[in-house]
Amino acid sequence: MLKQTIQRWERCISASRRRGDGHTKRKKHLFGKWVRSMSSSTIQSNDNRTTWDSVPKERVECVVIGAGVVGIAVARALALKGREVLVVESAPTFGTGTSSRNSEVIHAGIYYPLNSFKAIFCVRGREMLYEYCSKHDIPHKQIGKLIVATRSSEIPKLNDILNCGIQNGVDGLKIVDGVEAMKMEPELQCVKAILSPLTGIVDSHSLMLSLVGEAENQGTTFTYNSTVIGGHLEGSEICLHVTETDRLTEWKGTSILQPELLLIPKLVVNSTGLSSPVLAKRFNGPKNV
Ligand SMILES: Cc1cc2nc3c(=O)[nH]c(=O)nc-3n(C[C@H](O)[C@H](O)[C@H](O)COP(=O)(O)OP(=O)(O)OC[C@H]3O[C@@H](n4cnc5c(N)ncnc54)[C@H](O)[C@@H]3O)c2cc1C
Repeated sequence: MLKQTIQRWERCISASRRRGDGHTKRKKHLFGKWVRSMSSSTIQSNDNRTTWDSVPKERVECVVIGAGVVGIAVARALALKGREVLVVESAPTFGTGTSSRNSEVIHAGIYYPLNSFKAIFCVRGREMLYEYCSKHDIPHKQIGKLIVATRSSEIPKLNDILNCGIQNGVDGLKIVDGVEAMKMEPELQCVKAILSPLTGIVDSHSLMLSLVGEAENQGTTFTYNSTVIGGHLEGSEICLHVTETDRLTEWKGTSILQPELLLIPKLVVNSTGLSSPVLAKRFNGPKNV
């Protein structure tokens, strides 16, 4: 049933493209415009139960919103556990947001505050990422990193960074003197440096491609050009409001944007990156939920 709805949904999207509604140029800015409008006070509540009765509904076990590196990895992990997964992505393909516009560094986990999730997950995630990349032939290299003090007044700060990294459980960190650092990197001018041997680089597109492939092999469905615009509770169930992304071009931001499909999942993962808090605010429910 889910597959049929998704196929219908995808047919509807390709039909709108054939009609010439492909706003390729405008699409780039579309999502930003929508996010800005969503957070403005001109937007009315989407708590409009009667009009939703006519909207097609579909049940699915897990919905992952957003196909950046986080959403894709979550979808893969759920699918490997045997869960039915649908990924809803507003862009025409996966990983077009921050996940394809970053420095592709595999961070060691040095800077984060002690015992923070970031510190814990960065150290554990780095180990898992190297293991995954080796196992799946993802181009990557553990090239190491130098954090430098360019003058002696910066050395106390360098020591603080070193201590933070050690407390976070980053192995192999050591202070090297300027001469040694400059031997490694002749272009460098520094008086001291921290050598972080566990830092590396990764081809993030190959990584995402591999994760998508695994998720799809486990039965995950990716639906693109589809945006989650909000959600509401019906009893104990959450209903996600989905619309074709192109429809957002015509939307002036002054009227209620009606969904074209309601998804009713048992589990929702909001992995829409920087849009996550804005989208979360569009989920209507009792005040204490
Ligand atoms: C300049 C820069 C450099 C960085 N360098 C590094 C680095 O070297 N190493 C590192 O590990 N990290 C780095 N990062 C951080 C890293 O890129 C991000 O943490 C990561 O890409 C976030 O992934 P994500 O999946 O959460 O978000 P995103 O990649 O933004 O994915 C979110 C997805 O959700 C979709 N979406 C949004 N709203 C909706 C909606 N309502 N419905 C449907 N879909 C929606 C978007 O289209 C997008 O595809 C860097 C970040 C920046 C900005």
